[in-house]
Amino acid sequence: MGRRARQRWVKYPPENVYFSSDGRNIEESVVLTVSEFEAMRLKHYINFNQKDAAEKMGVSQPTFSRMLERAHQKVTQALYEGKSIHVHGGNIDYKTSFLGYGCLSCNNEWEDQQASKERIVECPNCDSKKVYYLVREHV
Ligand SMILES: [Zn+2]
Repeated sequence: MGRRARQRWVKYPPENVYFSSDGRNIEESVVLTVSEFEAMRLKHYINFNQKDAAEKMGVSQPTFSRMLERAHQKVTQALYEGKSIHVHGGNIDYKTSFLGYGCLSCNNEWEDQQASKERIVECPNCDSKKVYYLVREHV
């Protein structure tokens, strides 16, 4: 029968889905935070288990699990609705490294080249102390 016999099972073919990091098509995109994206990368790309991935990000396992769940919801929405995925968090994209912090209270994320697990700071946005260390290495 050839190609014509093939059936499409999805409403939007994959070519409609692309990664955008430059803010284009912002109204047609879902926004992932750096931490949500990092949670997915550690779990599904590097294949850490949740315990090791949580440790790597310096958060508790339940917190890690919530980040991952939110990330899955957003990515599922983007795929299903044919939207692009925008990773928020300073001037970064998925190919570059990111060193900084994220805030559990207001979801703010900022870059800090001196950031470390031993030097946890307050959120500059809301003064919260519920801040986690965020590092993304180019792998
Ligand atoms: Zn904050």
